[in-house]
Amino acid sequence: MTTGKFDLIVIGAGPAGAACARTAAKAGLAVALVDKKRFPRDKLCGGGLTGRAVGHYARIFDRPLPDIPLTRRDRFRFFAFGEDLGGGEEAPPIHLIMRRDFDAALVADALSAGAQDFTGQTGTLDPKEPAIDLPGGRLSAPLIVAADGVNSPTARQLFGEAFDRERIGFALEVEQPGDASEVPLRIDFGAADWGYGWQFPKTCGTTIGVGGVMARNADMKAALQGYLDTLGVDEDLPVKGQFLPFGDFRSTPGAGRILLAGDAAGLVDPITGEGIAHALNSGELAALAAVQALAAWQPDQALRHYRHALRPIHAGLRQARILRQLMFRERLRPAFISGFRRSRSLRGEYLRLLAGETEYGEIMRAMALRMPGFAWRALRGG
Ligand SMILES: Cc1cc2nc3c(=O)[nH]c(=O)nc-3n(C[C@H](O)[C@H](O)[C@H](O)COP(=O)(O)OP(=O)(O)OC[C@H]3O[C@@H](n4cnc5c(N)ncnc54)[C@H](O)[C@@H]3O)c2cc1C
Repeated sequence: MTTGKFDLIVIGAGPAGAACARTAAKAGLAVALVDKKRFPRDKLCGGGLTGRAVGHYARIFDRPLPDIPLTRRDRFRFFAFGEDLGGGEEAPPIHLIMRRDFDAALVADALSAGAQDFTGQTGTLDPKEPAIDLPGGRLSAPLIVAADGVNSPTARQLFGEAFDRERIGFALEVEQPGDASEVPLRIDFGAADWGYGWQFPKTCGTTIGVGGVMARNADMKAALQGYLDTLGVDEDLPVKGQFLPFGDFRSTPGAGRILLAGDAAGLVDPITGEGIAHALNSGELAALAAVQALAAWQPDQALRHYRHALRPIHAGLRQARILRQLMFRERLRPAFISGFRRSRSLRGEYLRLLAGETEYGEIMRAMALRMPGFAWRALRGG
């Protein structure tokens, strides 16, 4: 096994880690890509790629879409608390992938850009050096990006815990096998409390799940069963679960010379649960921060550059958390539902957000124009 000195070590080779490794390797850094799993490996996920995610993917991986089985949907429907909010007419497409295929393709592209392969092994992090001790020897580098997922062992080592149990989300999923060519793509806000449900048709079946703020969902299994009943699914399917950061992000994404990216930094949309787009983008931004700091021989400045670069993502997540209160507080909910259902342009704004063409700030402005003033006063009143 090759061990030794690198410019950057990336721990975790999901979308955040692979994007980071590829971006840094393309910029000429010597990169080690470490993951406890060998690829292809499974990852519990709806596998919904919004336009926002595809835009980041295309820029980082230099091709419009990965060369893997994909389902594409141009029409989809939103429901909220059982009520139909109207269709995603003229919606930018959403692509549906299996993470097993997608992540393996990302890792292959990171390695082909020059990153060295240390997948299939776990190590012990020495945050002071920084370095990681693998079974075959020590890897060291002036900077480490940890993209080791929602349960991030790195975040746990740096901060004592990977996430705050009061604010973390949790999601359950089933895979329904069979032909999904006629299955509609739908998202149901409120299928879990302070959360949502999804039905995503894929090339080999349908992924159905519910997720929401864990502290508000004492019985997530019941929420999943309720959602399966709504969709008319009566098969006995194996259920899998995983935490989801759901807006609970770290405002300082790392410590010292260790930067956190993707789920490890808590970068998941608190309304839609979308995390792949922010994972790709934050991995790229962490790599660019490393490139900038190393070019100036100032690795200690990388975290500052990275935090600055993440500001727009953090601002969007904060705004989404406010909007989530409008959707889920019982007294504000009717105003949200009728505002969203009546306003084609508001729905259009939301679809543009999923396409990566606008940000939550614009949605907030659109809602402020259309929603009765009392909702905003109530919201500000807490
Ligand atoms: C049920 C569910 C459904 C979801 N649906 C969607 C969706 O439809 N669309 C969407 O955009 N997002 C969705 N998400 C969110 C999305 O899955 C995540 O935001 C995304 O995977 C984050 O990517 P990441 O690279 O940060 O982490 P991950 O994809 O989790 O990758 C982390 C990597 O780190 C590795 N690792 C962990 N520990 C170690 C260690 N000690 N040493 C080395 N490597 C380690 C793991 O093996 C893994 O490969 C969903 C999440 C859940 C739970």
